[in-house]
Amino acid sequence: MSAPEVVVIGGGPAGSATAIRLAEAGVAVMLLERSDGPHDKVCGEFVGPGAAAHLARLGLPPTGAAIRTLRLTCGDRAAVSPLPFAAHAMSRREMDAGLLELAAARGAEVRRGVAVRDLDRDSLAVALADGNVIRPRAVVLATGKHDLRGFRRAVPGRADHVGLKMRVRRDSDADAGVIELLLFRGGYAGYLPLDAATATLCVAISARRYREFGATWPALLAELGRCAPPWRARLAAEPLWPQPLAVAGQPYGFVAPPEAGAVYRVGDQAAVVPSFSGEGIGIALATARMAADAYLNGDGAGVYGRRVGAKFARVATLGTVSRIGETGAAQALGVWVARFAPGLLAAVARATRLVEAEG
Ligand SMILES: Cc1cc2nc3c(=O)[nH]c(=O)nc-3n(C[C@H](O)[C@H](O)[C@H](O)COP(=O)(O)OP(=O)(O)OC[C@H]3O[C@@H](n4cnc5c(N)ncnc54)[C@H](O)[C@@H]3O)c2cc1C
Repeated sequence: MSAPEVVVIGGGPAGSATAIRLAEAGVAVMLLERSDGPHDKVCGEFVGPGAAAHLARLGLPPTGAAIRTLRLTCGDRAAVSPLPFAAHAMSRREMDAGLLELAAARGAEVRRGVAVRDLDRDSLAVALADGNVIRPRAVVLATGKHDLRGFRRAVPGRADHVGLKMRVRRDSDADAGVIELLLFRGGYAGYLPLDAATATLCVAISARRYREFGATWPALLAELGRCAPPWRARLAAEPLWPQPLAVAGQPYGFVAPPEAGAVYRVGDQAAVVPSFSGEGIGIALATARMAADAYLNGDGAGVYGRRVGAKFARVATLGTVSRIGETGAAQALGVWVARFAPGLLAAVARATRLVEAEG
């Protein structure tokens, strides 16, 4: 197997966007994605203004519904505010497949159904599950929510989160243009209308709380309905998948330390922002651009890693804030204050933007 100059491991938004930019600059880049076709991902599918700008620049502007309003619920209280920026919904199945197609069209060698088993930091040997080994000059680590051995992401002393997602049927237009967040002790749920017929229901919950709730989707929905009566209709929406998608071990607040060699960590492998901010896709696309530009300028992974650490230092702070915010008392107080200070919700939504809207 002839070695490409750069191997990208993982074909989510971070990996595809890096491959697109490198291929456009004439770099021989190979992208390895373990899934063999379009697939759904655990993600609330909220596309913030920064992510939308990056997507448009890559040639894939968001196609889903425009989102203009935020409704926050805790217990039987709710607060509503216009969003202080333009946002969109977009199916991850469509986004990820579209970006991979763009990467191939721009000249990247995209290999689907190829899983990487191991990466050696020093020699840059990329060992594939089928036994082959590739030795490129640089590696872009874009495996997202899944860690390779030796590259585990952890935030010391903090419990990991479980993410779950279900596609549900919309039964009315009353939810059009609204992102709804439900805060409960130990996590949050999000409901986002995706198109005329369907919506995304997503939950991020501490592993401990999920176990207390019974660790099954029906038990979780029942508990959430008990916590928040106004959400019962959302939770009772007809599920369109036999099972929810689930992913464990989300280290909210993680920011990768700079790498010494030539491994460029992008997307969730670089920084994991708490999901409620809806900025994960934006960070994936922003770090992709930063990594590709660093490589093209001859900057090492260490220089790039320090830039990411500086630019996304607030990710660690948001991780801490979200943990404090997961206590029931903090949430109830927050929603109560937001009801009487209407500008507060919009200010919080603005403060959690980490990626510039100009991309
Ligand atoms: C519950 C929840 C809700 C969220 N909601 C939102 C939201 O509404 N808006 C938002 O912007 N962000 C949201 N996020 C965050 C967002 O999903 C991530 O930040 C984003 O997907 C990161 O993109 P990525 O390319 O780094 O990783 P991923 O999208 O995870 O892609 C990684 C890719 O690598 C592949 N891969 C993994 N291991 C290997 C291997 N060994 N070999 C080959 N390929 C491999 C995988 O198959 C996958 O396609 C949410 C996250 C969670 C957990």
